[in-house]
Amino acid sequence: MSAIRFVIPSPEDIFMKWLDTLSDSKFRDFFVQRGARIGRNQVSPAENIEDIRRHAIILAFIKVKVQGRLEERRVRVSQLKKIEFYDYEVLKSVPIFKTIAKVSCEACSGTGVIKCARCDGTGKRKCSYCGGTGHIKCPECDGKGTIEISIKVWTSKDKKEKKKINVICPKCHGTGKIICRECHGVGKVPCSDCGGSGKISCSKCEGHGHLIRFKVGVIGSREKTMRYIAPKMLLKSKLLKQSLEHLSRVGFLKLTNILEIDQEKISKIIGYELENLKEAQRELSSLLDKLRKNMKVVSVSIRLYPVIELKIKTIKNKKALIAGIGSADNFVVVQLS
Ligand SMILES: [Zn+2]
Ligand SMILES: [Zn+2]
Ligand SMILES: [Zn+2]
Ligand SMILES: [Zn+2]
Repeated sequence: MSAIRFVIPSPEDIFMKWLDTLSDSKFRDFFVQRGARIGRNQVSPAENIEDIRRHAIILAFIKVKVQGRLEERRVRVSQLKKIEFYDYEVLKSVPIFKTIAKVSCEACSGTGVIKCARCDGTGKRKCSYCGGTGHIKCPECDGKGTIEISIKVWTSKDKKEKKKINVICPKCHGTGKIICRECHGVGKVPCSDCGGSGKISCSKCEGHGHLIRFKVGVIGSREKTMRYIAPKMLLKSKLLKQSLEHLSRVGFLKLTNILEIDQEKISKIIGYELENLKEAQRELSSLLDKLRKNMKVVSVSIRLYPVIELKIKTIKNKKALIAGIGSADNFVVVQLS
């Protein structure tokens, strides 16, 4: 690169080129005083250029390749709300909306429910009141099946005794047992964990029966070239608006590395210092750092368009701001104000 020379257009050349583009009435308006007769070749650039500013528009073409594969993720339905999906081409790794799919939950085979562990899926548990027998000891006869009643018996002329005899218990009818009132004789009660259904909601899939699968990665083509303009402050400028369409036709300095966007190196090549190079280099290098996190930067190609802005002030005190963009042998002139 050190051997390269790049000649930028001189302020005089830019001025003359601009002069050529003026209509006759514009020309008169700018330069011809009442009663005077002067032609375009009689106007001196030096006398009308009040100030010169040199800077550059930098166009960087960055070719990137997406590395790695799309990564698959699985989440529960309730987790979906917390994820931000993307549905347009974006060169960073993102959850991709179009890849969302349902996958059957393995824990519950897609049913959303699993067997209740407490009742082993039966929906019932042994009644603790009767120990699962369905009956309890009769409280009336304490399980004997008979009760004693005392009767009065005269055992002699003047003696009355109480005698006890056994009769069958009227509550249990002699069995000694009565039906358990907790389980109504069944010996089992509904399981409180599953409400008697024998099934509980699957916690792996929250009862949906499925999980959500999606892919994370870069959306769009795997290799592409992106174009950036630096410094960024130019993006909304009149200069860029007016010159963008010409950039493909004018001369530029080709660089292959952002390190070459260097004040000193560039001034050696073109013979002048350009403003804003530091800013442009800083912007592009932070952009590359960001890109490299998600993809491989295949190549960088940089076009540096010198911009020579001239502040014009004519003998009639008319002002204009013009800019020459490109190389000495191939440049355009745009009028900015
Ligand atoms: Zn499940
Ligand atoms: Zn249960
Ligand atoms: Zn009884
Ligand atoms: Zn019971």
